[in-house]
Amino acid sequence: MKLKTTFGLALVPIFVFLIALTAWGQAAPLPVAHGIAVGNMDRAVKPGDDFYRFSNGNWLMRTEIPPDRSSVNVFTVLADEADKRTASLIEEAAKAKAPAGSDVRKIADLYQSYMDEGAIERKGLEPLRAKLQAIRVLRNKRELAHALGETLRADVDPLNNTNFHTPNLFGIWVAPGFADPQHYHAYLLQGGLTMPDREYYLADGEHMGAIRAEFQAHVARMLELAGFDDSRARAARIVTLEHAIAEKHVSLADNEDIHKANNTWTSADFRAKAPGLDWAEYFKAAGLSKSTKFTVWQPSAFAGESALIASVPLETWKDWLAYHYVEQYASVLPNSLAQERFAFFGKTLTGTLQQRPRWQRGTLLVNVILGDAVGQIYAKRYFSPQAKAEAQAMVSNIIDAFRKRIDALTWMAPTTKKEAKAKLDTLYVGIGYPEIWEDYSGYEVRSDDLFGNVWRARQFEYDRNRNRLGKAVERREWSMTPQTVNAVNLPLQNALNFPAAILQPPFFDPQAPAAANYGAIGTVIGHEISHTFDTEGSTFDSTGRLRDWWTPADLAHFEEVTTKLAKQYDAYKPFPDLSVNGRQTLAENIADLAGLSAAYDGFRSSLSGKPAPAAEGFSADQQFFLAYGQNWATKERPAALRQQVTTDPHAPAEYRADTVRNVDAWYSAFPAQPMEKLYLPPVERVQIW
Ligand SMILES: [Zn+2]
Repeated sequence: MKLKTTFGLALVPIFVFLIALTAWGQAAPLPVAHGIAVGNMDRAVKPGDDFYRFSNGNWLMRTEIPPDRSSVNVFTVLADEADKRTASLIEEAAKAKAPAGSDVRKIADLYQSYMDEGAIERKGLEPLRAKLQAIRVLRNKRELAHALGETLRADVDPLNNTNFHTPNLFGIWVAPGFADPQHYHAYLLQGGLTMPDREYYLADGEHMGAIRAEFQAHVARMLELAGFDDSRARAARIVTLEHAIAEKHVSLADNEDIHKANNTWTSADFRAKAPGLDWAEYFKAAGLSKSTKFTVWQPSAFAGESALIASVPLETWKDWLAYHYVEQYASVLPNSLAQERFAFFGKTLTGTLQQRPRWQRGTLLVNVILGDAVGQIYAKRYFSPQAKAEAQAMVSNIIDAFRKRIDALTWMAPTTKKEAKAKLDTLYVGIGYPEIWEDYSGYEVRSDDLFGNVWRARQFEYDRNRNRLGKAVERREWSMTPQTVNAVNLPLQNALNFPAAILQPPFFDPQAPAAANYGAIGTVIGHEISHTFDTEGSTFDSTGRLRDWWTPADLAHFEEVTTKLAKQYDAYKPFPDLSVNGRQTLAENIADLAGLSAAYDGFRSSLSGKPAPAAEGFSADQQFFLAYGQNWATKERPAALRQQVTTDPHAPAEYRADTVRNVDAWYSAFPAQPMEKLYLPPVERVQIW
């Protein structure tokens, strides 16, 4: 549910992110002036034809994507800043000679282990040897089930960070229960694919066909580099198996439907409903034998994948498992493997031409593995109490605007309104940094053991999650670090996180006019608040419980207007052969639209009746909408954009800017004419909240 998936640092599985993340861009410099960036606009474009280019046209013309990036935008420019700061914190940590076992020492040692390329090359494939040998000697499907159980990790998050992908057979998410939000519960999700989504295996068209051919060649090269014989034949069998897994997978749009995900399975259910895999052995190896109830997000995929365990030969599964180990750890193995991984995941899948400098990747690694340790220092240094107070005031104002909007709805029953407002009353809003931090005392770091550090980090994270199953939920826990340029809504905790790193210019600038701040960070705040009431959020009540608190008539109305919005996005075509998927992006598009509307109200009410000043020849309302449009300035490589359209619940940036076409106040600010491209007659404008 976060603002923009591709910008999520902390929770993206680290091996994906080491090559795919879009930080450290060298986009055109940000404006020094406070408020909207007039120099970024293209006034030759009519706002009613193309509001995105009207707001950002000059920026688009003069910005180049650096060779080590797949895209640049406002978020990545800010992330660069946050990362530079983080890099200097890490440098200080290295000089501090902190005592062994302290967080500062762990930061220093982890970074050191990443930078010591000599040690990594000297060790070669040694770190993998024991694992690969253990796979080689698997004798039967029961032992295979055990080996697969050992791969389970806490690497998916279907609700807070909308991450549905794990290359392991399955993934686990430990979070408040649908039926019991006071206690931590286990959610199991489909997995097993190397490429980002089942569409990469199943979709028609030349483009995906070419990617599949490259994928198979890549699998063969990885196996060869890892010392396997007969690598081509093995690769062919692995890719065929992944294709079969993809056929069992549920689509992203279906994954986002909570009601389809709400399936409670006991241990007996796994045996009965998904025969094939030796589940008792699997759970034993995963350390979950004592857990009796799971929520299975995609029952059909569990049945299908489990059946494949039975029907596909043991030798093929062993090759698949070995390849997955090599692939998942390639970034921290010798350069030949790391390069080959980048060649496919970086170049082929996102169009990025080269890897980022090693020190930057090392900083990212530390940020992911020890995010809260870095975050504590970051927040102290870079987030002032004054900024916190001002952001808090904006949030209250926008929540208030939301409350008034709910009151004014003519279609919603009074009982539904009451629960909707209760959700706002009990919302926990975290600003800048968390009140409680992750404890890394159980995580061991060695300055000369990169592979081990990463291995133990994933195990530590898994055990931390597994060990809290059944325990009381801590609602104040964050799901993002303070140094993350993003924001998130946690529906099961009924909570919001606004990290320090997004609460700075150009999103939030105490010296900018209110119109610009509400248009920029205000719409981000509104976006996150409104996730409380999107297609997913609206299925949880004020305690975080999954419950139908809507009347059937309310729900019917909600369905009708949101379907209209989905259709609007279905019509956008970033490529001649690829449209935006209105259903897949619906929750985020609702959040954009509702957030924009509530932020606008919040802005008007912040003025308390006083006139707002014009700036640079633009009225206050125009500045508000321009600031919103400028949030979305983005340059992205075509391959990366295709990946986003296929795998991301967020629509491409351009169409997010264009959502202004649904808001009446935008038509007053920039009178669009009926023949202009974005113009919608009043009846076709979608208003939800
Ligand atoms: Zn969102």
